[in-house]
Amino acid sequence: MKILITGGAGFIGSHLVDRLLESGDEVFVVDDLSTGSLENVEQNQDKERFHLVVDTILNEAVMNELVFKCDQIYHMAAAVGVKLIMNRPVETLETNVKGTEMVLMLANRYKKKVLIASSSEVYGKVMDGENTCLLLEDTDRLMGSTTKRRWAYACSKALDEFLALAYYEEKKLPVIIARLFNTVGPRQTGQYGMVIPNFVQKALINKAITVYGDGSQSRSFTYIADIIDVLIKLMAEPEAVGQIFNVGNEEEVTIKELALMVKEMTGSSSEIEYIPYEKAYGPGYEDMQRRCPDITRLKNLMHFEPETDLKGIIQSVIDYFKK
Ligand code: UDP
Repeated sequence: MKILITGGAGFIGSHLVDRLLESGDEVFVVDDLSTGSLENVEQNQDKERFHLVVDTILNEAVMNELVFKCDQIYHMAAAVGVKLIMNRPVETLETNVKGTEMVLMLANRYKKKVLIASSSEVYGKVMDGENTCLLLEDTDRLMGSTTKRRWAYACSKALDEFLALAYYEEKKLPVIIARLFNTVGPRQTGQYGMVIPNFVQKALINKAITVYGDGSQSRSFTYIADIIDVLIKLMAEPEAVGQIFNVGNEEEVTIKELALMVKEMTGSSSEIEYIPYEKAYGPGYEDMQRRCPDITRLKNLMHFEPETDLKGIIQSVIDYFKK
């Protein structure tokens, strides 16, 4: 098949490119290299079935041609990482909202199947305090104030989901929404805030591992290869169309425990330093205390058991940065 991957030079997109090329597909990538990089796709540069277009997904003429000639679209292009979102809010909103509008509008023009990558950010801080239930696809969301910049990202991704569902219901466009929880692995950069590459990079040079807040907040992490398996299976599964799927791991870890694991696994002499959120991200930041998916819907549709556990995930990141 001919497959278009927006954001195909990014962390998740580039792993998807590798896998689809391995299965014999012809892959077209559009990426503006804002947070993605040529390095992520250089292993494919000489392959005949790989095509890279360096441009923004907001360029309608370019996107029109790509959507027209491809059979399926994985829309992975998005502003990514809490640090980036805090520092460049206009770009975040424009990329996420206008970019997805463009992809869906063109997919609908030629009736091409689209998988939209969404984010567990859409839940906001609903898992704080009393509410300790795991997050189902239709669990209520809880956003902070519009003066807290972090929630702009959450709202932009939620709008992407609304728009995708609207295209499905009103225009019968085949769409699938994958709501990705914290995804980790080689090629993920720590530059935009992500915690595991940050901790590992610091530990490897024996610099202080910086835990934001008191470290009692928890997350659940999934290995990139496990996520890629699911994305490809979802795209192939007719029953997935018109639905949202949580894609993640139900195993939780606190950020403090994570720091200790990274320190131990790297044999590092790094101190663990606690930094107030305000100092780490500047004003306008609010964290969520927990975020853990209920993945029953996904498991009802396909066999899914993440193959790589947290130790394996951390080790893969250590190996990557050592190289
Ligand atoms: N975090 C941290 N130190 C870092 C980077 C992140 O303590 O160097 C914390 C962050 O405040 C959050 C958690 O780790 O509570 C996960 O952050 P990340 O940006 O990786 O993902 P998200 O907040 O989107 O889940």
